[in-house]
Amino acid sequence: MDNITRESPVLMLPGVGKARASQLERLGIKTVNDLVYFFPRAYECRGNVRQLSRFEPDIPGSFLLTVATEVHSSNIRRGLTISKFRAFDDSGSAEIVFFNCPFIKDVFHVGAVFRFFGKPVLSKNKLQLQNPRYEAYVEGIPLPDYVPIYHLTVGITSKQIEKLVRAAIEAVLPSLTDPLPEDVRLKYNLPSLSYAVMNAHFPDSDEALKKSLARLAFDEMLTFALGISISRERRRLFDGIPFSPCSLTPLTEKLPYELTGSQKSVINDIYRDTVLAKDGRLSPMTRIIVGDVGSGKTVCATAAIYIAARSGYQTALMVPTEILARQHYQDMRGLLSELGIRTELLIGATTQKEKKRIMSLLESGEVDLVIGTHALISDKVSFKNLGLVVTDEQHRFGVGERARLKDKSQNAHMLVMSATPIPRTLALAMYGDLDVSRITEMPKGRERVDTFVVNEGYRARLNDFIKKQVALGGQCYIVCPSIEPGEDGAEAVVPNSLASLVNTRSLNLKNALEYTEELRLALPTLKIETLHGRMRSSEKDEIMARFICGECNVLVSTTVIEVGVNVPNASLMIVENAERFGLSQLHQLRGRVGRGKRKSYCVLVSDSTSERAVARLEAMRTTYDGYEIAEKDLALRGPGDFFSTNSNDNIRQSGGFEFKFASICDDATLFESAFAAAKDIVSRDPALSLDENKGLREELLRMTGINTSLIS
Ligand code: ADP
Ligand code: MG
Repeated sequence: MDNITRESPVLMLPGVGKARASQLERLGIKTVNDLVYFFPRAYECRGNVRQLSRFEPDIPGSFLLTVATEVHSSNIRRGLTISKFRAFDDSGSAEIVFFNCPFIKDVFHVGAVFRFFGKPVLSKNKLQLQNPRYEAYVEGIPLPDYVPIYHLTVGITSKQIEKLVRAAIEAVLPSLTDPLPEDVRLKYNLPSLSYAVMNAHFPDSDEALKKSLARLAFDEMLTFALGISISRERRRLFDGIPFSPCSLTPLTEKLPYELTGSQKSVINDIYRDTVLAKDGRLSPMTRIIVGDVGSGKTVCATAAIYIAARSGYQTALMVPTEILARQHYQDMRGLLSELGIRTELLIGATTQKEKKRIMSLLESGEVDLVIGTHALISDKVSFKNLGLVVTDEQHRFGVGERARLKDKSQNAHMLVMSATPIPRTLALAMYGDLDVSRITEMPKGRERVDTFVVNEGYRARLNDFIKKQVALGGQCYIVCPSIEPGEDGAEAVVPNSLASLVNTRSLNLKNALEYTEELRLALPTLKIETLHGRMRSSEKDEIMARFICGECNVLVSTTVIEVGVNVPNASLMIVENAERFGLSQLHQLRGRVGRGKRKSYCVLVSDSTSERAVARLEAMRTTYDGYEIAEKDLALRGPGDFFSTNSNDNIRQSGGFEFKFASICDDATLFESAFAAAKDIVSRDPALSLDENKGLREELLRMTGINTSLIS
């Protein structure tokens, strides 16, 4: 396997052909490195081999058994073949049963020994293992105690992925260089990268797994923290553009409501940041507005845009999706044009001709505000005098993207709006490069979204409830954790311990595609559509547009809808397998309804009986304040949730920073260490130009797009 590097396509690995490569691609794996970093979703503990006589019914166990009889297969009915044989150990014997696996007659021969892993069941008083997993046992060669279980897609088994992962690791491990400087690694007592990679796939013990995952999480958090520190350093080098003093009355007069105290104070912060104080020097504003969904952040940004325009400067408003861009455009255009602010929309769907027109207007300064998606950071767009950059729902953007947009004008002010309430302890770390303004009050007269937690037993009533909401003229969102059958969930995270995960296979996850079919059968009069992250964005936009205009009654989706689109008519949010989502994420989802006049509801469906899941869902039912939820989340789950960019739908598309390991971190100390280490490193080597930091520099560029050579 010469010449295979981390960047090689998986096709270079022995045994990988076109078909296999395209299956792997469905799992997000393109390169050998992707395979090395494709960590299990669970581990089965098969090390505790027990005697057959000591089995516990329905609890998965490991048994070391000798095959006693040949395999006997019979056709029970069309499409169902049963293959059986007997196997024994010192303490007794059991019947091993496989359904529709006739090939196993070539696997099991009398006298051979296997380690079986499965749930023992008593069938007519006889002990059976049905479709157990099995590994051939050879005297003197120990089998691993823990077996990795990988996320799957149709056509590939966990065992096959395991084999490929082993091949990938074997190919690149010898040349894997550790980006973490040795002294940092030792200071925080972290294992080497190769140890961590090896043990995250094939752990020797719970201890080894924990240590390895901690190391990988540390790397991510450190890179992220470095990005933050470096962005901040970089900005200090520039002077901010002084905006001119002006009165905001013309704006506030036109609003159909009174600003809340919080909104006034945020606008004050912005004014102080951007309008030159009499004596002091102005640095570019780098402020984030943190406020619950619906707390009215947009109008604060509008005030900033107004101040910029009054001072003769242009604003770019960047949002993560085209739908959101359109919505902002529609919402803001009216008010802004009354104030003499010229606004344009620039998105992927804009025609070439229109794009040209807008770009030339931006260049000549005839447009004051441009609203758009990532297209705005394309090199072709240039501004006459960009003075303000606003980004909405910032957790969708990578630090690097923020930095790149900022590069269009080094002195421009930056305002970020985030709907993710962050506990105070984390805010500094997560938004360390930003000054934080918090909105703590909601506009008057908001009715809260009543929240219920139900289990599968309520299915029929739930369907009736959907029907009733639609009959009343409302609309319904249903969020599922995965897209299609066979997937095990959108939360593509690595489990953080071995013990809790043996049983995850039995979890029955709702997937959006099948769910839609079932619901269409159950509620044939309703218009039900599916939306998920693997659709083309034009297709998503069309479906979303039909939902916004009320043509579609029920939208079954993955978390793609989480981003701040406003559908005032939506009155019901149902979240399936609610235990799979983070509290802050559930809170976000709940914020999608109750945005209009309709009384709105949120139903969290979960069959989980685990203590933690129950506590978390109970917190959702009883808490409506985003900050309080965030604090509870932190207490119940550790800091990891705040790194989880949620479903696999959005992460890859946004080009943002994807936290795979940090999102399972349940250790606040590790998190603090990573930020402390970053601070330390940057204070000694602000541009990461020292040799010992070469690995970090490369990692930073790879993960965030931040090129440190621009600093020095
Ligand atoms: P978010 O903070 O989630 O971005 P928006 O800015 O979209 O919230 O505001 C949500 C809704 O509340 C909008 O329809 C907006 O017009 C309205 N709104 C904003 N501020 C106030 C206020 N002070 N009083 C009443 N309604 C308000
Ligand atoms: Mg918003």
